[in-house]
Amino acid sequence: MYRIGNGIDFHKLEINSERPFILGGFVIPTEYSLVGHSDADVLLHAIADSILGALALGDIGEYFPDTDPKWKNMNSKLIIEKTLKLMHENNYGLINIDSTILAEKPKLSPYRLDIRKTLSNILNIPIENISVKATTTEKMGFIGRGEGIGVFTTSLLGSKV
Ligand SMILES: [Zn+2]
Repeated sequence: MYRIGNGIDFHKLEINSERPFILGGFVIPTEYSLVGHSDADVLLHAIADSILGALALGDIGEYFPDTDPKWKNMNSKLIIEKTLKLMHENNYGLINIDSTILAEKPKLSPYRLDIRKTLSNILNIPIENISVKATTTEKMGFIGRGEGIGVFTTSLLGSKV
C-alpha cells in the first residue's frame, strides 16, 4: 500500500546577515535570510506538509500554529520529528521525496548535495531517495523579484504492514 502527498510553502526573503538562511536543515552561507515565525526553513515545511498530506492528517499549521509564541524561532527539524512520529504511528515509512525550490537568489545549485546529505540524516532515508531541484521563475512575480522563495515537494510513503 502506497500513499502520495504534496506540500507547498513560501517565505519572504530579506537581506539580514544576523539571521541564518536555513534550507532543508543546512545553513547556506549568504547575506540573505528567510522571514518567518519559526526558523523559516521553507524546504522542511514543504516536506512535512507533503508527508502529512500523504497521510491525510492535515497540515503543519494545525500542529505548529504561527500564532503560538512557543514556536517562535523554532528549529524546523522538530516539525519533521513530530511528522515522522505521526507517520510511524500510522504504520507508514518514507520511500522517497522530490522537491523543487523556486528562487531567484541566492544561488542554490552549489549546495544541492549538502542539502540532500542533511535531509538524508534528518529524514533517515538514503540520499538516492532524496531529490532537490532548484529553478527560477525567469524574473517573473515576487520570486522573480527576489522577494520570496517557494518550495514544492512530493513524498511517497509505503505501508509497513
Ligand atoms: Zn513555512
